[in-house]
Amino acid sequence: MKFNFPIFEIMRLNYELGKKTWFGTGGKCSLYFEPKSINQLILILKLSRRFFQILIIGSGSNVIIRDGGYKGAVIKLKGEFTKIKFHEKDLILSVGAGVKDSEISKFCLNNGISGLEFLSGIPGTIGGNLKMNAGCYGSQISDKLIDCTIVDRKLNIKVLRKDEMNFEYRKSSFHSNQIIIQARFKVNKNNKDKIKKRIFKITNDRKKTQPVAKRTGGSTFTNPNEHSAWKLIDKIKFRGKRQGGAKVSELHSNFLINDNDASSLDIEMLGEEIKRNVWEQQKIKLDWELLRIGKFKKI
Ligand SMILES: Cc1cc2nc3c(=O)[nH]c(=O)nc-3n(C[C@H](O)[C@H](O)[C@H](O)COP(=O)(O)OP(=O)(O)OC[C@H]3O[C@@H](n4cnc5c(N)ncnc54)[C@H](O)[C@@H]3O)c2cc1C
Repeated sequence: MKFNFPIFEIMRLNYELGKKTWFGTGGKCSLYFEPKSINQLILILKLSRRFFQILIIGSGSNVIIRDGGYKGAVIKLKGEFTKIKFHEKDLILSVGAGVKDSEISKFCLNNGISGLEFLSGIPGTIGGNLKMNAGCYGSQISDKLIDCTIVDRKLNIKVLRKDEMNFEYRKSSFHSNQIIIQARFKVNKNNKDKIKKRIFKITNDRKKTQPVAKRTGGSTFTNPNEHSAWKLIDKIKFRGKRQGGAKVSELHSNFLINDNDASSLDIEMLGEEIKRNVWEQQKIKLDWELLRIGKFKKI
């Protein structure tokens, strides 16, 4: 294979991946790429197909990268994958998978588009949102989805209609070898003041109830059937509990925070300790919502 194109310009070796996540903890990855176009992405996939496993990352707001890092190629979409287009006639919003939720909110507010206001409370990207079927305040990203475009490791580019995918609470049917590159949503037009009010309410409520300014990963565990994870954690009196530099948030007990130079192991051990105590005291199994990626560091 020829590497005459600037693949080396967009490639980093031994990249400090953990520092790029919301927790700011964890190790390095072997290779890191920021493709700005579909051609660059295809080339990276061709290169890694033979040699590496790949991981696609958005804002890193739902992951713990373990301290031993990730052996493989990590891809973060930039450039043409961070564009938003509004087709006013059909009320369709086309969003690149690398677009941040805060940018979608801003775009929707500026253009009087409603339906995706809830994204103002989520610090991810559209790719991560779809993979996790992210949501809050009674809405989830799959609600307004029409279709999305993916590239797989065999380099096929496909458009998947919503009815060809499966979405559940914080889960989707995308495989780890499918890279979402774009998605289309059916939206509505609305009065800008109404949209602004809703966004303002969401961001304000969040500041009061969640440690949004801290190094965190959002909800640690999904809510088990008919239970709220935070209530189960409060019952075992873990609010404020520490493990090394990690801490259970005082503001929201289902949020773990990197309070004082935590390692990913501190965070994961604190999570496991919560799971164990909830099980022992309440016989309810908590499942991680945070994705734990990579290897533990050898001691
Ligand atoms: C303060 C805070 C508040 C939060 N509040 C909420 C909330 O209210 N509701 C909620 O649902 N979540 C919430 N989260 C969690 C998180 O923001 C969401 O899960 C978000 O959708 C993750 O997006 P991301 O881009 O950061 O994905 P990442 O964390 O980078 O990745 C998550 C998963 O998505 C995959 N992925 C990312 N991009 C792509 C792509 N282009 N193609 C294929 N797969 C991809 C990754 O491989 C990984 O498996 C919160 C997190 C924080 C830190």
